[in-house]
Amino acid sequence: MHKLFLDDKFISGNKIEICDETFRHVKVLRLNIGDEIIIGDKNLNDYYCTVKEILKNSAILFVNEIRKSQNESPKKIVLFQALTKSDKFEFVIQKSVELGVNKIIPIVCDYCDKKNSPTINKLMRWRKISKSAAEQSGRGIIPEILEAIDFKNAVTISKNLQTNFIAHEKSNFSIKNCQLNKDSIGIFIGPEGGFSESEINFALNNNITPVSLGKRILRTETAALFVLSLLVSENEL
Ligand code: SAM
Repeated sequence: MHKLFLDDKFISGNKIEICDETFRHVKVLRLNIGDEIIIGDKNLNDYYCTVKEILKNSAILFVNEIRKSQNESPKKIVLFQALTKSDKFEFVIQKSVELGVNKIIPIVCDYCDKKNSPTINKLMRWRKISKSAAEQSGRGIIPEILEAIDFKNAVTISKNLQTNFIAHEKSNFSIKNCQLNKDSIGIFIGPEGGFSESEINFALNNNITPVSLGKRILRTETAALFVLSLLVSENEL
């Protein structure tokens, strides 16, 4: 069954009205009267609905049942992903959301090609990608994509998490040997040029463990997805 997210102001009792951009999705999905759809309120509630009416600019749904989403892990995974080429970053967002990431924080590192924060338009595009990946994969929330921050700020923010790792190809300590079953985990992935030695030292001084992801050098987008897959298999499967 298709899922769409909607602000809860459109949900009143057992009736939901879909308009604006979400209505365009209804059209794209070619939904007809009698079809079933799940509406998520972005806050773990899933409304199982039947399409009752399709008007010129809106659709009316009847809520049959409300269920708590079972698709969110109680574990929180935050991805600190170095800025990279836009298409790669979009790929990372889409796949990380499918894999259950809780939040993505773009980071500006010493060896990033682009050191400028993404424009507001780009950020909005990234947030749309997160939303549609969350809908497609049946998430109970839409993972947040924050504005880009510099590496040192990211390290400071990561202190709120129970444990943090930084993927570093020169580390001899395999991620396999890490305790990954934690309530909240931050993972740092570097840019194509890797992390600088001073960044790795700064991470170490702040209790962030450098880890190896194996003998081969992975592209930044592969590295992020590899780690997330490992965390999913460790914590959820
Ligand atoms: N410039 C580096 C080099 O040529 O040695 C490679 C950087 S790699 C393309 C981009 C990022 O992915 C790294 O900063 C790291 O976070 C992660 N990464 C890729 N392969 C890795 C590995 N085998 N172990 C740990 N981290 C890895």
